[in-house]
Amino acid sequence: MKQEIRITAYKCKACGQIHYPYHDRCLACKKRDFEQIKPEGDAHLLAYTQIFNLPWGFDVRFLVIGVVEFANGIKSMGQIQVDSLEKLKTGMSLKPYWGPVRVEAEEPVYGLVLRPS
Ligand SMILES: [Zn+2]
Repeated sequence: MKQEIRITAYKCKACGQIHYPYHDRCLACKKRDFEQIKPEGDAHLLAYTQIFNLPWGFDVRFLVIGVVEFANGIKSMGQIQVDSLEKLKTGMSLKPYWGPVRVEAEEPVYGLVLRPS
């Protein structure tokens, strides 16, 4: 079964600025009223990199991580399922899903995972 992407972003009711994670006040207009929104649609790759020096809990030699923007404007970081950076290009579309990203105390920890579509 496909898991819901467990990201909640906060859209300012005054100016529409989207915040993820939550901020007490809007970074654009300083107001405090937000509407909760969920990511929608595909994710477009804004930036990416490779990390080799991983903390405890990762059973891989390196990770590819990226910052993506969903169709409705939410930006988030996630793990990209590719074996080489050569398969990535900024602006490309990625399929997002909620899946295991590492193991902590022998339990899987879930997070945003992205796959080239
Ligand atoms: Zn605002």
